[in-house]
This record gives sequence, structure tokens and C-alpha cells, in this order.
Amino acid sequence: MNKDVEFIVENVKAHTEWFRNCLPMIASENLISPVAREMLISDFCDRYAEGHPGKRYYQGCIYVDKVELKCVELAKKLFKCSYADVRPISGTVANIGVFKALAKPGDTVTALNTAEGAHISHAKFGGAGVRGLNVVNYPFDSKNMNIDLDGAVKVIKEIKPRIALFGQSVYLFPTPLKEIADVAHDAGSSVVYDGAHVLGLIAGGKFQDPLREGADVVTASTHKTLPGPQGGIVLSDHKGDTEDDKKFLKRLDSGVFPGVVSNHHLHHMAAKAVAFAEHLEYGKEYADQIIRNAKALGQAMYELGFNVFCEHLGFTESHQIVVGVGDGMGRWAAEALEKADIIVNMNMIPGDTKPLNPSGLRIGVQELTRIGMKEKDMKDVAGLFKKVVIEKIKPENVASEVIELRKDFNKIHYCFKEDEAHKYYSITGL
Ligand SMILES: *Cc1c(COP(=O)(O)O)cnc(C)c1O
Repeated sequence: MNKDVEFIVENVKAHTEWFRNCLPMIASENLISPVAREMLISDFCDRYAEGHPGKRYYQGCIYVDKVELKCVELAKKLFKCSYADVRPISGTVANIGVFKALAKPGDTVTALNTAEGAHISHAKFGGAGVRGLNVVNYPFDSKNMNIDLDGAVKVIKEIKPRIALFGQSVYLFPTPLKEIADVAHDAGSSVVYDGAHVLGLIAGGKFQDPLREGADVVTASTHKTLPGPQGGIVLSDHKGDTEDDKKFLKRLDSGVFPGVVSNHHLHHMAAKAVAFAEHLEYGKEYADQIIRNAKALGQAMYELGFNVFCEHLGFTESHQIVVGVGDGMGRWAAEALEKADIIVNMNMIPGDTKPLNPSGLRIGVQELTRIGMKEKDMKDVAGLFKKVVIEKIKPENVASEVIELRKDFNKIHYCFKEDEAHKYYSITGL
């Protein structure tokens, strides 16, 4: 190997070693299963396929087609719907594909503001802008950390957007979708629910059920609470049983291809299929434990003196909690925690105006749950946060306690081949 290749391999190994010994609590991350990881390094990662199984532009897709048909079948079963497109290569790509399908440049989409929990792909400076859409924001209820229901209804009635978009990146409580969807449909809008963060909870029967609450389309990432490979998905329960409805599904389909993908990363598609099959088996149990752990962490940090948001609502109904750490102190706290091997991200909280100097932390427990932590372990985790952020103990001195706590958690749970997990987790999967 030459120096450059050695450098790359060494650093990937160092990263892997670090993450094996730390507390990864970024709310958008997770660990794929051992079998899914095998799919990622299979020959699928070298191949091309465009379009749909049986109707490819490229030869060589005999087995790819079988896997993709199975992947779509499993997605429909897992998400209880009649339409699934597993090709988007990320959640952002899924959103832009749906924007292309359902709106034209110059149309308006209504969404939350990114400062109040929406994703960059919902913004004029992000994905919505790529499609040339105007964005009008719903008001936000910062006390309850949720969309302001009456305000949103008013905005939709007034604006009559082409797309009424919902879903958040800072996402503690279900969107009151049922109450808004009828109003949006009366206004002639398509209702799109971005479930990127909460897809695994939804599939596990928790959080909410957007396709039954009025969403025409669900977009999502496949790697957050759904512990699959990095990727995206588009779901709908429209049946295509009228001419108009057929057209609707056709537009969704061509929004993705040829809209935003050509080849759709077949190894990720195969790994998605594995993740869906495993989630059908273990998803209920996993989603339930995630939410228990998030509530337990919120309670424990609150008792230790942290400003955990929404105590009056039990802190959270998702995998996340939000903690205020003092005016403009978010970056300091996240960097100190990183030195203690606790990985979180700083986040804007209501009242913040400077995205690069926010006052909060967003903390996710889905990955700690995946490695087997339960409510009692959340108390230990909360104690470590306190040492770094409140007691301001030198973080490097707390790191050894993190490593000690982490020692007992080196399996990946809620999947097949649990006993082989360490192989794929400890040495870069190779
Ligand atoms: C993470 C996220 C996405 C998509 O992210 P990708 O990294 O592109 O998969 C989309 N919407 C929301 C609300 C998100 O939080």
C-alpha cells in the first residue's frame, strides 16, 4: 500500500475503535446489523441497474431483480402500504424526488422553519429551493415543541400550498396530522410526511401512523430509528384505482427515476431489504425500548439538574430529548462531551438566532438501545453528562468511565446473527 492508502485505512480503523468505545448519541445515526453489513460489501456494490426489476436498461440484473422485488414486498408489509420506492439514495433525495413529482417551480410548500426543527431539505436554501419552490413556514409552539395546530391550519387555508409538508429533525412529539390533513386536502394540497427520524418507531407501531392519519406520501431516511443502511424511501397507500390516482403514483415513480437517481446503489438496496425483514421480526420490541430509554434519560438528566425540555409532557415520545445548556453554550457542551467520548450535536432551541452558536443539545438513544442499554443504564449515562456539563470535570478524565460503561455493550441487538455482531463491529467490517 502507498502512504495515502495506509493513511486512509489507519484513520478508518482509529475511528472504528473510537466508536466501539464511546457513547454515540447523534439522533440520526444507528448501527446496521451484521447481515446488512455483509450486503454492503457484496458484489452488489459494484453493479448498475436503472428503472424497475424486469425492465432494466442494463444486463446482469437477474439476482438484483429478485432482491429488489423482495425489498419492495418487505417494505410494503413493514409500512402497511400499497406503494414503496426503495431507490432513493438518501432522505434528502427522496424529498427532492417527491417535490419534483408533486410540484412545479414557483409552487409553494408549507413547512416548519429549520430553526424550529425542520430539515434543511424543507428549506428554500436546501431541497425545496432546488425544485424552485417557495416555502411558507407554519408557526411553532415552543412550549410543547410541536407545530402550532391552529396556526398551521390558518396558514394552509390561506396559502393553499401545492404540498403541505410535515415532519422534523428535532422531533419529540407526534405531529397532529389527522387534524391538519383534511384541511390540507380541502385546500387542494398533497400531504407529505417526512418520517426520516421516526421511521423505525412508526414501523414498530409507535409515535404515529402517518399513512392512516391522512398523509398521501411518506418520505424517510432508512438509517435513523430504522436501523438500516444509509438511504431513503418513498411510501404511499394510494392504490392507483382511478385514472387520477394512477397518474399520481406515476408521477411519484418518475420523480425518483429518472428524477433524482439513475443507478440506485444496489448494495444499499439489498441491505435495506435485510433491515426491513429484521424490523418485521424485532421492530416492535426495539421501538418500545427506544422510547422507554429516551424517557428514562430525560427523567434522569432532569433529576440531576439539567434543563430537559417538556417535562410537563414526559420529555419525549420519540428517540430524542432536547436539553438547554445555557445561552450560546451548545457548542462548548458538545465539544466537551466529545472529549469525554460522548458524541452528541449542538442544536438550536426556541429563542436561538445564531445557528452556529446555539444553546441546546439534541440527544438520541436509538443506538445505545441497539447495543442493549435499558432504562437503568440511562441513569449512568445521565451521570456522565452531569460530570462533563454541570460539574465541568476535565472531560478526558470522564472518558475512562465511558469506556468502562461501554465494555458491557458490544453486541448489536434486535437483529439476526447477534452473536456475530462483534466481528462486523470491531474491525471495520472487513
Ligand atoms: C435526516 C433527515 C432527512 C434526510 O436526511 P438524509 O441524510 O438525506 O437521509 C430528511 N428529513 C428529515 C426531517 C431529517 O431529519
